[in-house]
Amino acid sequence: MAKKEPVKVQECPAQERIASFCEVVLGYNEEEALKEAARCLQCKNPACIQGCPVNIDIKTFINKLTKKDYAGAYLTIKEKNNFPSICGRVCPAEYQCRKACVLTPKNSPFASEAAINIHFLERFAGDFGKDKVLSLSEKKDREKSSAFRVAVVGSGPAGLCCAGELARQGVHVTIFEGLHNSGGVLRYGIPPFRLPRNILDFEIDYLKKLGVKIILNFIIGKTKTLDELFKEGFAAIFLGLGAGTPSFLGVPGKNLCNIYSANEFLTRVNLMNAFQFPKSHTPINIGKKIIVIGGGNTAMDAARVATRLQKMNGFDVDTTVFYRRTETEMPARRLEIQHAKEEGIKFEFLMQPVAFKGDDNGYVHTMTCLRCQLGSPDASGRRKSIPIEHSAFDTPCDIAIIAVGLEANTLLTQAVPELKTNKFKNLVVNLKTMQTSIKGVYAGGDIVGGEGTIIEAMGMAKKATQAIIKYLESRHSKKNLKQQIPNSK
Ligand code: SF4
Repeated sequence: MAKKEPVKVQECPAQERIASFCEVVLGYNEEEALKEAARCLQCKNPACIQGCPVNIDIKTFINKLTKKDYAGAYLTIKEKNNFPSICGRVCPAEYQCRKACVLTPKNSPFASEAAINIHFLERFAGDFGKDKVLSLSEKKDREKSSAFRVAVVGSGPAGLCCAGELARQGVHVTIFEGLHNSGGVLRYGIPPFRLPRNILDFEIDYLKKLGVKIILNFIIGKTKTLDELFKEGFAAIFLGLGAGTPSFLGVPGKNLCNIYSANEFLTRVNLMNAFQFPKSHTPINIGKKIIVIGGGNTAMDAARVATRLQKMNGFDVDTTVFYRRTETEMPARRLEIQHAKEEGIKFEFLMQPVAFKGDDNGYVHTMTCLRCQLGSPDASGRRKSIPIEHSAFDTPCDIAIIAVGLEANTLLTQAVPELKTNKFKNLVVNLKTMQTSIKGVYAGGDIVGGEGTIIEAMGMAKKATQAIIKYLESRHSKKNLKQQIPNSK
């Protein structure tokens, strides 16, 4: 049992934060971090480490925190995770390390409140290291030298992680990003109130200091092919394209105006500053009655962004999340659900939308829903949602945001049929090496499938990096490779 109560984290008050995009969770100060770290039982067999997709040595880094060895704690995390400040903010710890913590009762669907707040401690160590330790690790990294060239396609979590890992080992890395700014889902998907842009920019700048080149507005599969990259001298390619194709509800009226995919809605706001229109050239409609459909983190992000836009545009906050199961089955982080509730977002559970209706101009004004009940568990282990006959009802809806998942980005796989895909259009890889069906081409993150978490994408990228290094070393001696470098751009 924990000897002391968990240390609560400071947060920006709900009424203050919904009028802006400022960070909600303010993190632990030193005193709070020390108090929380002291609660850790330093278990002989720390289950928390198994719960982390990249197996951070959680026990050791927390132990170092208790001794005020903050640099040591930071470097311990960095052995397994390149971006502790990011993961400490966005990882679904309730379903991973905290759920596995011995202080969470067995068979609990998510972490109990008593579990050590590992993510807040990781964030504390990450922010400390970012400000005070980085120069040390950077110097060490730069001492290494090599002469390989690797192309990384996509600058989301998997791409950034792979690029960083390779650059630290002296590899010359070029990232090709299709959008006009780097960061992938970290920038276009996650709102700044969860991941402030200065944290993301800092990590990307750090990669640039390690020598990573980033080429924006460059779509591999359109602007250039994989073959062309190989011909230009890249010895290997890592594909971290993400899953950028939104899923829609196959219901009547789905194409009416003011029905957005969460992907488009968040991209317009997070990446293209739609909330600053006309200062930014990306208008986005907002209305009195907003409905968000889905129960994951993207649904929570969309609802919370919509709420802020309503507030900033002078509307009363009236955003409702419709989800087909109950709150217990929601895959969103518990913290985001709690924050959404505090911000005035309403929830309607056991609801399945079956149609949208619009006006003569084609704008949505009503959603029709069926009420549901829970059945037996499905393949995912969650109880099925079963619609109840004759339970249909209408609800007004000015804006609908659909957050029911993403599918693999097929831009590249359509252009390169040699890349083998599965029935979900995800790339098929060797799970030990992350190599695709093409020799020298590796992949990781959402394009491969999995749970879609950032830390999982980073774990795949790390695995791929190790395989890429082995692959390069098996093909070339460093001496030979150095002779190839003059062609690099
Ligand atoms: S975080 Fe939890 S599981 Fe891990 S060592 Fe501490 S008490 Fe044990």
